[in-house]
This record gives sequence, C-alpha cells and structure tokens, in this order.
Amino acid sequence: MRLRGLSIKKRVTLYYSLALILISLLIFSGFCFTMHYQVKAVSEETIKSAVLDSFENIECSDNIIEINSDFDIYEEGVTLLVYGDEGNLIKGSVPRDFPFYTPLSSDEYKTIGEDDKTWLVYDLYMLYENGQGLWVRGIYAMSTTEKTVISLIAVMFAALPFIVLLAVIVGIVITRRAFKPIGEITKTADSISGGSDLSKRLPQGQIKDELYYLTETLNLMMERLEKSFNAEKRFSSDVSHELKTPISVILTECEYMLQKEREGEEYRESLRIIQSQCGKIMTLIGRLLKLSRTINTAETLEKEEIDLSGLCWGICGELEAYAEENGTELIADIDEGITVTADETLTMRMIINLVTNGIKYRRKDSKHPWVKLSLKKGMPVTVTVTDNGIGIGGEHLKNIFNRFYEIDGAEKDPQVSSGLGLAMVKWIADAHGWKVGAESSPGKGSEFTVIL
Ligand code: ADP
Repeated sequence: MRLRGLSIKKRVTLYYSLALILISLLIFSGFCFTMHYQVKAVSEETIKSAVLDSFENIECSDNIIEINSDFDIYEEGVTLLVYGDEGNLIKGSVPRDFPFYTPLSSDEYKTIGEDDKTWLVYDLYMLYENGQGLWVRGIYAMSTTEKTVISLIAVMFAALPFIVLLAVIVGIVITRRAFKPIGEITKTADSISGGSDLSKRLPQGQIKDELYYLTETLNLMMERLEKSFNAEKRFSSDVSHELKTPISVILTECEYMLQKEREGEEYRESLRIIQSQCGKIMTLIGRLLKLSRTINTAETLEKEEIDLSGLCWGICGELEAYAEENGTELIADIDEGITVTADETLTMRMIINLVTNGIKYRRKDSKHPWVKLSLKKGMPVTVTVTDNGIGIGGEHLKNIFNRFYEIDGAEKDPQVSSGLGLAMVKWIADAHGWKVGAESSPGKGSEFTVIL
C-alpha cells in the first residue's frame, strides 16, 4: 500500500496505531523480562534464607549433631531436607514428583524439572567440629509462581488487540476532531476560488493553535491579494477612461473632417487638435510607464544611507533652469548634514515631483511666483515644498494623491499633466513608511510636507 496516496487523517491514525502497538509490545516485553528476573531473584533469596535459618536449629554438642524440635521442614514455601555426609536423608520428606536422586552441590542454585513441575533447589553443606558434616537442601516449587506470571502475561497479550483497537478508535475520533477545521477551511477556500468574491475570509477558530495562525496568515495574504486586485482593476479602468477621452476626440475630429471636402485651414486646425490629443496620450503613457517603474522598484527598495541635504541642493540645481523658464524663483532653505536611510532615486523623484508641481501651478498673474524647498533637521526630519501658486480647494485636497485626479479649471498644459505625479509621491512615501500631507488655500498657495 502506498502511504503517499493516503489522506493525512488516515496517515496520522496509521502512524499513531503503529506507534501504540510498538510501545505496548515494548512495555509488555519489558514487563515480562523484569517479572521473570524479579521472580527468580525473590525465589533465590527466599530459599537461601530458609536454608541458612534452618542451620540455627542444628547444634553440635559433645560430638553429637542434634536437630532440635524448632526445625521446620517447611518454611516460607520452601521444603527443607537434611542429608548426612553419605547423602542419606535424615529429616524431611521429598516433595511428590521431585527427582529423588538429585545430586547435592553446596551453595549453588539449580532448576530441576520442566514444564508443569519446576523446582528451584539450593543446597548448603556444613562441617561440624566432630568431623561430621550435614547437608540442608531447600526446594522451592517454582511452578505456582511462574504459572501466575505466565497467566498474567497471557492476559496482557490477550488484551493487547483490544487496547490497540480502542486506541485506533480513539485515534480516529481525535484526528477527525482535530482536522475538522481544515475541512471547513478547504470548503471556504474552494468557494473563494470558485466564485468571484474575494472579500470572503477563511474561518478562524477560537483556540490560538497552529491552524489559527495559518488561517490568519492566509487571510492576511488574501486581504493583500484583494487590495492589489482591486487596485489593478481601478488602475485599468482609470487608464482606459483617461485614454478614451483623447481617442474619442481624435475619432470625432476624423469623422467630421471626412464627411465632405474641407478647406486647407480647416484640415490644419483639425490636425492641430489631433496632434494635441496624441501629445496628451503620449504624456499619459510616459507617466504610466514611469509610475509602473517606480512601483516595481519600490517593491525592491534599495535603501542606503543618503546625504539628503546634498540631494536637495542637487535637485534645486537641476530645476533652476526650468523654474527660470517659467519666471519662478526657486528658494532653497536646506539644513546641512542631514542623512537618511532611503532609496536615493525614488526620494529624488518624490521631491522633484513636488517642486515641479509648485512651478507648474504658479499663478500666471503673479508678479513674483516662487517655490521654496525646505529641509529641516529634527526628530523627525521634514521636507516641505511651499509655493505662492494657484492653491487647491479644500474639497480637492483629500483626493489629489489619487491616481488620475486632476482639478478642473486649473490652468494647465495637457502635455505635462496627467494626474499621476502626486500618486507617485504618495507611493514612494508609503514604501518608505513616511507620511505625506498637503495644506493649501486657493489663490494663495500650497504647502506639501513629507515627514521622514
Ligand atoms: P499632474 O500631473 O496633473 O500635475 P499631480 O498628481 O501632480 O498631477 O497633481 C494632481 C492635481 O493636483 C493637479 O492636477 C493639480 O490640479 C493639483 N496640484 C498639485 N500640486 C499643486 C500645487 N503645488 N498647487 C496647486 N495645485 C496643485
């Protein structure tokens, strides 16, 4: 039989029963072995002490050996016989069936007889002052004691199959009870994988055992899967929605122009519209690729000790020309010598996105638009990007970190806007365990803070 084909439940019961049979056999054999030796040792002790004691009732005075009346021929189950030097029986009577001519040998244990009738024999020779000697023989009928032991062992072996049967039944009941939650978990997991409802969770028992922690881990895993599945779903629907708008503009424009012959200027105007919509699509695709790259890198953050002050100065230098092109002053308020453990490329992308937003969303009518990048020492270190731009209405503030969230009415260039910049900032901050927040008042300016 191939064990691998058996269910865990059956295998556990089988191993458990086999182990039990083995343990029982071991205990029983150990018991028999000990019993056998114990009985032998006790019998030897009894017979020897009976023989030794008997010599106390044999005296030698005036050259005559005398066995006094206290001599007991049967003591503690031991039959005592007294023999003379020539092996002639002086006192006591040989038990029935005991081989009469069993030779005498001093201070030696002998087992005489077989099967039904077994005796343990012990002889001791004593030489007295008058030159005469005496043998005392002790005979102990082993058969009775051994029979008791044998019958006890037989009872034990007879009971063994019942004990094993009982153990198997108990084993089946225990494993069935222990594996019941697994059945329920499998049923729920089946219904989750069969249906489309990812919000279902595996049932978690009350007792905090291995299964409890396993289901907890699986539930956490499912929660993460559900979240990423929903995020993917939302992302795809957002992307298709964002792409749909410029593509439908292009399609409508084409259909309109192809309806009949048009003037040259009309064609040019239509091509300009199509070009601008294509530009929008290109920007969107470019941003999406950047975001997906950011997310992929964020999964394997390459954290190291970075010089944040130096990084901020570098960003200011890099964006100075862009700020100047847009008539915006870039102010740096950077504390020196600040280092943090972070992914350098992602941290740089996060700060660049915030500063370029400050430049992009300046007030066109402002005489002196400015953006300030501050890096402040402390516990914790904070990066703040402040501007005196168009600001953000309170109703939008809570949504600006969502993907594709753009504020209608904000003067912006479709070529550089996609509603993904702040989503990326939030993503990077989350991946590092940083907090990002925004405060703003429309027409006055905004302040974005990242707490490291
Ligand atoms: P976008 O690519 O459109 O800039 P973002 O995710 O960076 O996307 O920003 C989302 C929206 O939040 C922008 O469309 C803009 O309306 C608003 N916004 C972001 N930063 C600022 C800012 N500094 N000042 C005013 N509005 C801003």
